[in-house]
Amino acid sequence: VAATEEVGPAPADSTFGITDAFLADPSPNKINLGVGAYRDDQGRPVVLQCVRDAAARISGSEFMEYLPIGGSLTIVEECVKLAYGEKSDVIQEKRFAGVQALSGTGACRLFAEFQKRFLPESRIYMPIPTWNNHHSIWREAGVPQRTFHYYHPECKGLDFPALMVDVKNAPNRSVFLLHACAHNPTGVDPSEEQWKEISYQFKVRNHFPFFDMAYQGFASGNLDRDAQAIRIFLEDGHLIGCAQSFAKNMGLYGQRVGCLSVLCKDEKQAIAVKSQLQQIARPMYSNPPVYGALLVSTILSNPDLKSLWVKEMKGMVDRITRMRTALRENLEKRGSLNWEHITNQIGMFCYTGLTPEQVDRLTHNFHIYMTRDGRISMAGVNTHNLSMLFFNACLFLG
Ligand code: PMP
Repeated sequence: VAATEEVGPAPADSTFGITDAFLADPSPNKINLGVGAYRDDQGRPVVLQCVRDAAARISGSEFMEYLPIGGSLTIVEECVKLAYGEKSDVIQEKRFAGVQALSGTGACRLFAEFQKRFLPESRIYMPIPTWNNHHSIWREAGVPQRTFHYYHPECKGLDFPALMVDVKNAPNRSVFLLHACAHNPTGVDPSEEQWKEISYQFKVRNHFPFFDMAYQGFASGNLDRDAQAIRIFLEDGHLIGCAQSFAKNMGLYGQRVGCLSVLCKDEKQAIAVKSQLQQIARPMYSNPPVYGALLVSTILSNPDLKSLWVKEMKGMVDRITRMRTALRENLEKRGSLNWEHITNQIGMFCYTGLTPEQVDRLTHNFHIYMTRDGRISMAGVNTHNLSMLFFNACLFLG
């Protein structure tokens, strides 16, 4: 008997499974609020003009060669500038170990492997809730997980006091996973003041902050503002890890372009850490893909393309913000419930507080698709489906 005959099916992926169910639904009124990908007002995927221009500029260039194991040096340089600031000391002093990664997921995975290998006694502290895949990534790397308080279901905002207690109670030198901006799935971020307090407490306890920054520019439309948390920690002298992705902010989902950087005490240490990251990457995927990397490096190293990118990114953020306002206004006109959290939460998602059973009912009875944790992707809402969404929501709310 072949060993494969014994293999049972794996459970469907909680996010990608929704798209399959949506596609199979024949209803003309169906609405997909499950996908974490931007859509325009017609509900269509978007290829940014800066990406089209970059593609035209690189067409015909010799881009089929292997990249080094650590990927494109230009990408890494541009990424660390985006994360830590153009003129940051860590860049001048070359105190960063940076490698191109397979988008944000790949950057997290590389770091998790690094943590397992070089911080063998450590655990990873994750916010509750967090992006589901975080749990799988660190589990696969074999790093034990702990959680910390983050979201307060009643106020639909940050449970800051409980978060601070958890930070204080974690053993010294713990590794914390923080969402740099536009927390997924809640859309709730700490304020500037709160980040400062968190950073201070991390210093006291010698914790290591690992920032997952999958949405830089997608929270506020401003790249520096969305890197505020990282800059605060940097100012306080922390060594930081950071995963970056161009999936959302450049719409390069399938190209898998990202970066992992780890700040070090000096250049010598940075060279050592980079060599270890490369050694981890080599047997996993050898080297990262080249085409998306060329697109990103072309955009980031050309001032005209870069400003077009920022303008287009702002356009996406503004459309999402308009949909939040419209949805909130419509729901509030209808009754006395408070829907403030729809506009308070930022980024691509809105965390509705619906239970898994309510989500199932919305899907089965009203053809509205979303993840079972009650998260809706605001990018799936547009001026055409808004009234249908509102109409169905009213029927649902009774
Ligand atoms: N981290 C978070 C919090 C995310 O929401 C996502 C995208 N869903 C990612 C990382 C990684 O996405 P990608 O691998 O496509 O860059």
